[in-house]
Amino acid sequence: MPQLDVLVIGAGISGLATARKLAMQGHRVTVWEAQQHLGGKIQSRQQQGYLTEQAASMVVNYIPAVRDFLHQCGLSKHIRERQVSTCSNRYLVGKQGLQSVPLRIPALLKDSMFSRQQKWRFLTELFVPRGHPESESVSQFIERRFGREFLDLAMEPFVSGTLASNPDYANAAATLPRLSQLEKRFGSITAGVLISKLLGRTSAMNAHTFSFKQGMQTLPQVLADHPNITCHRGYRVNSLNPSKMPKTNTMGWQVNADTDHGERSVTVQQLVLSVPANVAAQLLKPLNSSLAKLLSEIQYAPLNVVHTGFAQQAIKQPLDASGFLVPRNNQAKINGNLWLSSAFAKRAPTNKALLSSYLGGMRRPEAVEWDDQHSIDVVCDDLQKLMGINSTPEFVHIDRHPQALPLYYGDYLGRSRAIIDMVRNYSGLHLQANYIGGISVRDRLNQSHQTAQAIHAELQARTFRLPTSVTTSSYGVNV
Ligand SMILES: Cc1cc2nc3c(=O)[nH]c(=O)nc-3n(C[C@H](O)[C@H](O)[C@H](O)COP(=O)(O)OP(=O)(O)OC[C@H]3O[C@@H](n4cnc5c(N)ncnc54)[C@H](O)[C@@H]3O)c2cc1C
Repeated sequence: MPQLDVLVIGAGISGLATARKLAMQGHRVTVWEAQQHLGGKIQSRQQQGYLTEQAASMVVNYIPAVRDFLHQCGLSKHIRERQVSTCSNRYLVGKQGLQSVPLRIPALLKDSMFSRQQKWRFLTELFVPRGHPESESVSQFIERRFGREFLDLAMEPFVSGTLASNPDYANAAATLPRLSQLEKRFGSITAGVLISKLLGRTSAMNAHTFSFKQGMQTLPQVLADHPNITCHRGYRVNSLNPSKMPKTNTMGWQVNADTDHGERSVTVQQLVLSVPANVAAQLLKPLNSSLAKLLSEIQYAPLNVVHTGFAQQAIKQPLDASGFLVPRNNQAKINGNLWLSSAFAKRAPTNKALLSSYLGGMRRPEAVEWDDQHSIDVVCDDLQKLMGINSTPEFVHIDRHPQALPLYYGDYLGRSRAIIDMVRNYSGLHLQANYIGGISVRDRLNQSHQTAQAIHAELQARTFRLPTSVTTSSYGVNV
């Protein structure tokens, strides 16, 4: 049976980023992926001149290490910057249709979107005592600091529209880590924002937002393209067991996968599980039923993305932002709409617009069951009312995600800690996926750094312990 140093199971962005970090440190890494496609959820499609995204449409980055990593991987030359014309505007659906949301505190205080009482709450947030966002929902946290109106008009649409989650159940510290950290450090979010601004720190407001010229698909493709990485597609892992490494006599893992060419098996020193929580639960159940139970309890939100292409002249609404979000008390059935061809150049043919609508999530999970025609009718009805589009789309494509995004619900932090503690008992086992440590591409890239560092340290320690001949012979074996 072949013997490997590192096997990554799952070629989503979490798995590939970890593989790439290790490869850049000189380790040989093998990746086993169940599908034929690399990138997991991330997939870009070019059809009839429209470039659509199946999942992530953009990276919003404020972490220097992530920026440096992308640069080191040679991705800088592929980056497509967000169009400047869309940077200073955000829309929410209000009583009078689409309403521009002020981004700065003084403008927020002048704006007609919020009542006088709400503006007073913005000012007095400075004096609200610290709470415990680790044990609060997003709704409790935001209501405590800013009041109900701000929750309903601004934060609920954000959590529903971008995370497909429900703020009444989503854990505040896990879902809004930056805001809860500001409260913890400065005693007030407003004070924290102002102090960070004075110190010139990058925040979510002035983060670098970008995609890639050929779409997000470039990211996994480039990450996988390294001489130390070998990717095997169509390898669906069906079991794993702790096992002695025959050559080194150290503990490792035996991993088995179904492939089109029969079953494949390997023993491996370091094993990275970059698969959804339910798959990890299934694989780990024979080993540790408590760990499997914790993993299987992680819920996922279902979500469909309905991409539509229109002639620009059919759209009355000026496309001067990246799109809009819809609050839950509104009649519209979509959660939000992304104006991808406005955010990034070359996403649609000349004089056409690509508008991607999000249907379902935890706000309306039954919507993901709607058939294609009903989904398109609902989207077109909402777009007609909100954006004054009176024609049928000339292009439609629907991406369906029965398990779109993990929900950081309830005692998310306690559960994550328990999972991590249990995994620590198994030498050479690492979990690295979007159900722990953040769902965004930024967070996935950032987390992969920590996993790669841990693996690098373990491999180094082993190299140190073993006679040179044994160590050298175990390197360079790839299946
Ligand atoms: C609709 C939507 C829009 C989004 N928009 C954004 C956005 O704009 N910006 C942003 O930052 N993030 C966004 N996200 C989030 C982001 O895209 C995901 O969190 C991220 O891509 C998940 O990566 P992952 O590697 O953790 O998981 P996945 O991409 O799910 O990868 C897991 C991989 O494991 C493989 N696998 C499963 N079982 C096995 C097995 N038994 N053996 C081998 N392989 C297996 C799967 O085939 C898959 O390739 C969005 C997500 C969705 C769904």
